Amino acid sequence: MNIIAYPIGDSLYLNLTNRCTNACTFCVRTTTDGGMGYDLWIDKEPTVAQMVADIKAKGVENYKELVLCGYGEPTERFDDMLAVVREIKAYCPVKVRLNTNGHANLIAGESVTHKMEGLIDIVSISLNAPDARKYNEICKCQFGEDGFYGMIEFAKEAKSYVPRVIFSVVDVMDKEDIEACRRIAEEAGIEFRVREFITD
Ligand code: SF4
Repeated sequence: MNIIAYPIGDSLYLNLTNRCTNACTFCVRTTTDGGMGYDLWIDKEPTVAQMVADIKAKGVENYKELVLCGYGEPTERFDDMLAVVREIKAYCPVKVRLNTNGHANLIAGESVTHKMEGLIDIVSISLNAPDARKYNEICKCQFGEDGFYGMIEFAKEAKSYVPRVIFSVVDVMDKEDIEACRRIAEEAGIEFRVREFITD
């Protein structure tokens, strides 16, 4: 049976899709059966109504936050994702965090960052590499090196519509690259976080 909403600690995570614009070498989709002990592969993507129903059934009002996370890239279903959040925000005042590769604009073929206003409270964007060439080596992006530039642009735009925007890197990267990523974040005026591999 497909897992739609599932708890990790005091957060409730939403599993929208297997699809992703990247094929990162470290991705849990290719290195394991799932994340944090869950088998998250989806046979059929849940509808907006199914996601809303499951989030409510899991008692979202008792969690610190709702995290839009995967199993693939949640913005592959950007409008469905926001439709779910709109209904959940009308139901209870839970904080909503989006964990993303930052490709929403590239996927849509236009800028869609403004649609997050009033719905997404935190957006955490995987920076993954300090330049476009390395990014594409690690992430094997379907947009090629444009995936890196599109992700940076998405992050800068998101600052106008989302209260908290974070660039994150995983702690398995080499230290020089982590420091170079930190400088990119500082220059863009975006909060920077080094996160533990496979935690979210
Ligand atoms: S962006 Fe995330 S979901 Fe997509 S391949 Fe990379 S780690 Fe996996």
